[in-house]
Amino acid sequence: MSEERLRRVRERVRPFADFPVPGVLFRDISPLLKDPAAFRALLDLLEAHLRASFPHIDFIAGLDSRGFLIGPPLAQRLGIGFVLIRKKGKLPGPTESISYALEYGKAELEIQSDAVEPGQKVVIVDDLLATGGTMRAACELLGRLKAEILECLVVIELRSLKGAEKLPSVPLHSLLQYD
Ligand code: AMP
Repeated sequence: MSEERLRRVRERVRPFADFPVPGVLFRDISPLLKDPAAFRALLDLLEAHLRASFPHIDFIAGLDSRGFLIGPPLAQRLGIGFVLIRKKGKLPGPTESISYALEYGKAELEIQSDAVEPGQKVVIVDDLLATGGTMRAACELLGRLKAEILECLVVIELRSLKGAEKLPSVPLHSLLQYD
């Protein structure tokens, strides 16, 4: 049953060579979002995984921007809230921010300072883990708010980039793995 769901999800991830820059094979989840049965299969798999792994989760935290597509429906299914980790300059009020290196250049992420309380249990969600820099920055932000990060959860992991090794002793779970 879960193999069938995984197959549906895998079929709806579309590779694009040389996007956004030459040499990158972009894994596009647009077809997954367009196909309600495949998107439901994705949410079924993520929900089942989290229910089996953790007795209690306070929040799903989603990464700007494709984590915002997956995180809120997943949080709804679990009956919990969703918090935003955004690119710089988008969130009002006091924020924590962190800048980090991308393959080309730099980026900055922010979270509202009151997004979670110390000790609250959070799962971070994104579409894809590549070098792990973005996910590590998100862990750092939640760490500053003293959240307990239960897991980093992604649909796709690009194993050859070894992003999981960058995460600070936080487990990673991925549904699909590519080299
Ligand atoms: P990284 O910080 O290198 O792990 O990059 C992760 C972020 O960049 C995620 O939010 C992804 O959406 C995006 N990303 C990086 N590489 C790819 C790729 N090959 N295909 C699709 N999205 C990617």
